[in-house]
Amino acid sequence: MNHQALDELKRQIPLMGYLQAHDWHPARPLGRGRWMGLCPLHGDHKPSLLVDPNKDLFYCYGCGRGGDVIRFAELYHQVKFPQALALLRQWRGVAPLLQEAARFYGIQLHRHSEAVAYLYQRGVRSPELIEHMRIGYAPGGCLRGWLTQLGYPLPALRQAGLVTDVGYDAYMRRIVFPLEGNLYGRSLSASAPAGRA
Ligand SMILES: [Zn+2]
Repeated sequence: MNHQALDELKRQIPLMGYLQAHDWHPARPLGRGRWMGLCPLHGDHKPSLLVDPNKDLFYCYGCGRGGDVIRFAELYHQVKFPQALALLRQWRGVAPLLQEAARFYGIQLHRHSEAVAYLYQRGVRSPELIEHMRIGYAPGGCLRGWLTQLGYPLPALRQAGLVTDVGYDAYMRRIVFPLEGNLYGRSLSASAPAGRA
């Protein structure tokens, strides 16, 4: 990969978006658009990670590591440079799709009272929390049609794990929420373990 291609990849994956998709939350603003937050690279207890979205750079005052989104991917996933690039390229393809799916499932949640009741039973009652965690509901049998209508090709849906090999929605009657760049589903009917709601 030449310099131009690397720059292009970095431009397409803003560091801030990548961090937030991996459950990072900015804790306090620093001025000039910069943020401090807990460092996901070491056991951090007070925010020591500085993120500059304008320069797409991070630096941790705790563990002393810093760099761009590629460096972050290397450290976070504990892989070498070429693997980090591969992960980011894959991410670039799948991320918009997962975001679209999460958005669609977020809308479905409010159309299915059984899903809302399920959350309520498990103590998830605040609309703010549901919004913040981007919790949604997958009724099944409607995501594929929605995404293909938006122009996403079926092989991409399969690759993202949203549709099964035979073409059905992968998530059926499940509470879904995005976590660490993936979509997680929990069945309504299964006796799910308590906690971690
Ligand atoms: Zn750190």
